Amino acid sequence: MMMGTMVSVEIVSDSPGIIAGIMEKVWSEAERLERVFSRYIPESEISLINREAGHRPVPINDEMMEVLSRAEDISRITDGAFDISVGPLMKKWGFFPEREGQLPSEAELAEVITRVGWQAIELNRSERTVHLLKPGMEIDLGALAKGYIVDKLAALLLEEGIENALVNAGGDIYCLGEYPGGRSWRIGMEHPRDEDEILTVLELKNRAVATSGDYRNYFIRSRLRYSHIIDPHTGRPAQSKVVEVSVMAPDCLTADGLATAIFVMGADKGIDLLRKIDDVDGVIVTKEAGEVIMHFSEN
Ligand code: ADP
Ligand code: MG
Repeated sequence: MMMGTMVSVEIVSDSPGIIAGIMEKVWSEAERLERVFSRYIPESEISLINREAGHRPVPINDEMMEVLSRAEDISRITDGAFDISVGPLMKKWGFFPEREGQLPSEAELAEVITRVGWQAIELNRSERTVHLLKPGMEIDLGALAKGYIVDKLAALLLEEGIENALVNAGGDIYCLGEYPGGRSWRIGMEHPRDEDEILTVLELKNRAVATSGDYRNYFIRSRLRYSHIIDPHTGRPAQSKVVEVSVMAPDCLTADGLATAIFVMGADKGIDLLRKIDDVDGVIVTKEAGEVIMHFSEN
């Protein structure tokens, strides 16, 4: 269990003697990264950045700079549908730190949303600092940190001489090389309303896939479903009719971030976005009038 989810690593090798040692390195690397990116750990780098919101720029390491820069890129290309500064909204809706769920009042939302906005995250690349410009701002890397960690673990495996492996952090997956027998890794996309059913199968080789959905982390009030992905423009859980989206990309951070963004943007804008970015594809699942519909990008 890591970053609030189950992490698994499968290694294909004909020298099983080396696996235990490699796995030890993998877990310690995963734990190291969790201590950097988790908002649940008070001494993590991310917690430190948040504590200094509205006060001062905070020195950060290269890994944090890379993740924050990539987050900024994704915010820009999604017109702010992706926004890691949703931290205060996650709290207000009761998704953090506990997953209890609560409905804020209009007045509360109006106040909280003044503390949200990716343009107020100031990255200084030469000084290597980040400054959250507004007091009470909070960044939350839940939408892409798992993807980044998956990429780092896959890179570590490759460095250790492993050519075929599957790294999976709660559905954020990197498929290194091939499955035994010389075929691609096959990833089943779960039905959003029936966990025993597979919607479709994705085949990947040296490629990542990440999935966002409304069926694992949500609460229901008065028969309405509130998911943990927030539309930063309204301050409310996304209402895009998307119930599940899988994005395939060369790296898992990209896949993870775009999947979250497309969940907010909806199917039409989501397909347009996938079309615009090279080497990225996806399946967007909507539920309209009770019917589950799959929308595929070109490839
Ligand atoms: P999961 O954790 O289920 O894999 P996602 O990758 O879709 O889900 O990320 C959801 C998390 O991203 C939320 O729990 C929250 O931390 C954060 N988040 C919510 N809304 C947004 C948003 N619009 N932009 C960026 N991050 C978000
Ligand atoms: Mg994501």
